[in-house]
Amino acid sequence: MGYSVLVAEDEPNIVLSLQFIMKKAGLQVRIAEDGDQAILEIEKDRPNAILLDIMLPKRDGFSVCEVIKSNPEWSAIKVIMLTAKGREEDKQRALGLGADDYITKPFSTRELVDRVIELIQEGESANDPGTAPK
Ligand code: CA
Repeated sequence: MGYSVLVAEDEPNIVLSLQFIMKKAGLQVRIAEDGDQAILEIEKDRPNAILLDIMLPKRDGFSVCEVIKSNPEWSAIKVIMLTAKGREEDKQRALGLGADDYITKPFSTRELVDRVIELIQEGESANDPGTAPK
């Protein structure tokens, strides 16, 4: 289907398993190991969605989410926040910054990938109902 997803995550095991299952699902995957790199990757080529860890080096996920959602050219990018914390205040903060979804670690990789594809497709039909895939 050719959707592109940026994985902003600094834990190698999570990166590897996400990369594996996403490629298998036909997604184009890029990796950013810290928050600054995530912004640079989006500037290079805008992805359909970003899986965004909250606890990232250099610039945390909240800050990256804020940058994405406050830029009109980027605000259609689906942002799925990932965190080990599972604290209600983190969830509220992420959603308040415009995150599209919020997943608490440990998560089912397969369910996460299904959710990413679903969000991208929902966004497409909202933006362009005439040519949306069924
Ligand atoms: Ca992390």
